[in-house]
Amino acid sequence: MKILVINCGSSSLKYQVLDMTDETLLAKGLVERIGMDGSVITHEKIGMDKVKKEAPMPTHKEAIGFVIEALTKGDAAVIKDMKEIGAVGHRVAHAGEYFSESVLLTPENIKKLESCIELAPLHNPANLTGVSACQELMPGTPMVGGFDTAFHQTMPAESFIYGVPYEYYKKYGIRKYGFHGTSHKFVAERAADILGTPMKDMKIITCHLGNGASVSAIKDGKCYDTSMGFTPLEGLVMGTRSGNMDPAIVTFLQEKENLDAAGANTLMNKKSGVLGISGVSSDFRDIEAAAEEGNERAKLAVDVFVHRVKAYIGSYVAEMNGVDTIVFTAGIGENDKNMRAMICKDMENLGIKLDAAKNDVRGKETVISADDSKVKVLLIPTNEELVIARDTYNIVKNLK
Ligand code: ADP
Repeated sequence: MKILVINCGSSSLKYQVLDMTDETLLAKGLVERIGMDGSVITHEKIGMDKVKKEAPMPTHKEAIGFVIEALTKGDAAVIKDMKEIGAVGHRVAHAGEYFSESVLLTPENIKKLESCIELAPLHNPANLTGVSACQELMPGTPMVGGFDTAFHQTMPAESFIYGVPYEYYKKYGIRKYGFHGTSHKFVAERAADILGTPMKDMKIITCHLGNGASVSAIKDGKCYDTSMGFTPLEGLVMGTRSGNMDPAIVTFLQEKENLDAAGANTLMNKKSGVLGISGVSSDFRDIEAAAEEGNERAKLAVDVFVHRVKAYIGSYVAEMNGVDTIVFTAGIGENDKNMRAMICKDMENLGIKLDAAKNDVRGKETVISADDSKVKVLLIPTNEELVIARDTYNIVKNLK
């Protein structure tokens, strides 16, 4: 069965087609600037050059129309007809407390996701627009949702309840949900496979370090805690997001800088993080280059980022009464050996020791800890699309 995986943002759409007989990736692509001037699709049949096409795409429906055209017509086509696509897997940001795993998108389940829009006002509407556009253009094809929050639903209440009046949990759903769940789950399962240990017998800390970044504590094969919270703003200092800080800073700055709620939200989400600290960029490649040239604030941004990741690792070791495996993944985790080295430096007391030569690697599955390190440290490239494709396949193959 061939599966189309769709990840719809407000003005973009990423897609992949996988053949699930052997999980090969057949094609992938990206549509950008949906609903704006200069809409463009970049399509790649695996093994061939990318092809770009500019065309007006006022809504996601036209965008998906062009995806269908790219997949079925011309030299870079990978199927003859959309009927060859057995199902579509959609990445959906927020499933609240409804789903702890991927589900078939029945009208009833879609209603539940619509009720989560309040919790993810930027992401869920775009994700659901992608679902309805696909339903219109591919009638009869089953649709499955894979959720960023699902893997974290196993957290115990002591991990997810905040110190605010309990009634707000009941009234507004104020609790920690966690995000990047598909990625944390994927790399934890891969680590268990690579090390040949059942995941239920492991204590794993997964570090998903990209533009958005989060750390998870996984024990007994389940998520026990994670650093992102009610929204993806909590936790680590990220590219442009502040992460944890004294919540009183928000109201203080609102008064001083005359900011309304939306202004404060923008400040914490878009202008903070390592961008805000360094004043250079949200991208660690730029920040590290500036730091090397002597830019003190860029150096400080790196130090703050590293310090926060270390602090989470330490607190999760305490929460789980130990750790046996640490995994690095996502843009920074997969590509930045200096960052991995700085995070793991001076952690021998916790049994964590990197091997500098083994750590001199990018983007490939490998163990990077020293042979005498008590804790195994691994680099595992994440693959959220593959998880969604697998879940979709497993749900849909039982339908028939
Ligand atoms: P997201 O999916 O959250 O947008 P990614 O996982 O793609 O993020 O990570 C993007 C980030 O990874 C970039 O902003 C950059 O900071 C970092 N990154 C990517 N490649 C490198 C590299 N070679 N060295 C350092 N950082 C890198």
